[in-house]
Order: sequence, then structure tokens, then C-alpha cells
Amino acid sequence: MESMKNINREEKINLVRKYVKLKRKETENQLKAIRKIVFSNSSRRLKAEKLVKSNATGDWSMEAALKALDTNCHCEYCGKYMLASPDNYKDWQEDHIQPKSKLKNESEKVINDPDNLAQSCRQCNVNFKSRASIKQMKKYVEENCRNDS
Ligand SMILES: [Zn+2]
Repeated sequence: MESMKNINREEKINLVRKYVKLKRKETENQLKAIRKIVFSNSSRRLKAEKLVKSNATGDWSMEAALKALDTNCHCEYCGKYMLASPDNYKDWQEDHIQPKSKLKNESEKVINDPDNLAQSCRQCNVNFKSRASIKQMKKYVEENCRNDS
């Protein structure tokens, strides 16, 4: 293994550029496989089984795959279509509606109850929602929402 110490910045940037390009191509192929399953004529259950088995979705559980199908692979908060591009796909997360950080005294069963899970993009989940409790969100919405719903 050659030393990486003598690689200058430009060479590092070029290396990362090539690496990212390959990874993006890999993600596009995963996306193609997922779309093929999602848009097939199979039943909801069979689609979910295929998604889990294909491993194209990483380590999705049967429950997560079914939930994704129920939302047609959209963010439940902003409506972003998570299969539209590799960037959207990589931003796809499963959100805990009531954040784990606010449920410290609750059991895993309560925290991971399907009713507490939502399909979300990273922006909604991490950048905007960022650990606010349902109570805090309600207060903020009431204070800041006037006519728009
Ligand atoms: Zn979103």
C-alpha cells in the first residue's frame, strides 16, 4: 500500500471525485432495482418481501418496506419523492415522530412502535424537526401559524 502522505490536495480531490462518481452510479443501479419492484404488478406484501430480499434498501425490515410502500416512497412531511434521484434516495430516513431523545423513560416497544415511525427526508427529520417534542412543535405551530394551515 503506497503512502497517502505525499498525495497533494489536487490528487486527493481527483481521487474522491472518481470515488463519488462510482458510488453515485452504484446508487443509481440500486434505485433502478427498487423502482422495478415498486412499480411491478405484485401485491403490496410481495413487493415488500422483494424489497427486503433484494437488499437494495440496505437493512430494511418487512415493516419498514410496507410503510415505505404505503407512502409511495414519499417523505410524509414535505412530500419529497425519495426515488427521484440518488441524492433523494440517500436522504431517505425513518423518523421517530416523537423523538427518541424525548422518550428516554419509555420502553423500546413504545419508541419503535409503528405508530411512532414515519418516512422522512433528512432535511425534515434532522435539519428542521431536530429533536423537538410533539408538545414543543404544537406550541411553535400555534404561535407562528396564522391563516396558512
Ligand atoms: Zn421532507
